[in-house]
Amino acid sequence: MLSHERIVKVVSKYNLAELTIGTLGSHSALQILKGARDEGFRTLVVCRSDQTHVYQHFGLADEFVIVDNYKDLLSHEIQEQLLEHNVILIPHGSFVEYIGSENISNKLYVPLFGNRRVLEWESSRDKQRELLEMAGIKMPKKFDTPEEIDRLVMVKFPGAKGGKGYFLAKNKREFEQKLKKVKGEKKYYTIQEYVIGTLIYPHYFYSPILSRTELMSMDIRYESNIDGLTRIPERILKGYLVDPSYVVTGNIPLVARESLLPKIFEMGENVIKVSQKLFPPGMVGPFCLECICTPDLELWAFEISARIVAGTNLYVQGSPYSQLLWNEPMSTGRRIAREIKLALEKNRLLELIY
Ligand code: AMP
Repeated sequence: MLSHERIVKVVSKYNLAELTIGTLGSHSALQILKGARDEGFRTLVVCRSDQTHVYQHFGLADEFVIVDNYKDLLSHEIQEQLLEHNVILIPHGSFVEYIGSENISNKLYVPLFGNRRVLEWESSRDKQRELLEMAGIKMPKKFDTPEEIDRLVMVKFPGAKGGKGYFLAKNKREFEQKLKKVKGEKKYYTIQEYVIGTLIYPHYFYSPILSRTELMSMDIRYESNIDGLTRIPERILKGYLVDPSYVVTGNIPLVARESLLPKIFEMGENVIKVSQKLFPPGMVGPFCLECICTPDLELWAFEISARIVAGTNLYVQGSPYSQLLWNEPMSTGRRIAREIKLALEKNRLLELIY
């Protein structure tokens, strides 16, 4: 893990008046670049040549760094290029997936927005569980072996692959049959109780500068084919066996019933407190708790994303919640840039970058 001192040293050579906000061209890059532009920063995108069109089209990047492969971001040449532009990189879901959390922790010496130590917690389901349970959050039961399966479970594979390859099983036999059909690496699976309810994904932002956890927005994932299956009447589906899959294809906006908000705030705030104990200074900036709400209005979280999630892309112009708090169009991307701006004004930038 690169030390904070190392990053501080890099930033000490930066021209802060020319600070550039950069990210990898994918996931929520457009929102991040727009937010940075709206806050008056220069912007930079690292992308492959087949993607430049998108970023050129929207005109949100002042600089383009073209790579053959995302992992080239780790090369000395590209990193030095970013340092020349005084870049702070904003990690997002694809950023972590493509570059790899270990590579980011150990090899990427360009300053990153947020605490690098969170990557090690986010990339392990067991560590996620430890964090969420310490925060008093209900989690679906985990089964250590297929023999223990005594209810409907979801079998998951590592990485943020958008639900690809997951399957459901009700017992060991069904588990084994379905595991056989899984293509690719199938050694590392997690067997998790399937919670039946509605999806609620609150997007939070922890601000070290304002010392508060903000509720930015919420979304529901739109998943194929499970969301399509609900459109076929039972009598037509009868006898026609289709296994549900949970591949994310989009995001749908959501507001929660207002009486759920106290719980939603409590969950986010507790996660921040626990993260500050487990890996000081804790989580910085955006995060999301992936929750299911059962009919008794209990919220269960089955995952945490400790960075900007793609569901925030719905709210380039802000969400009902961010509008209430900020009274201006405040996306999560813009909120990141605003935090950097506030920190610069108070000479506290080093509390945000690691
Ligand atoms: P994930 O990759 O963990 O975000 O899961 C992908 C999708 O699978 C989610 O968006 C949910 O629709 C569904 N899902 C994941 N875990 C559970 C669970 N424990 N119970 C019910 N549905 C789940």
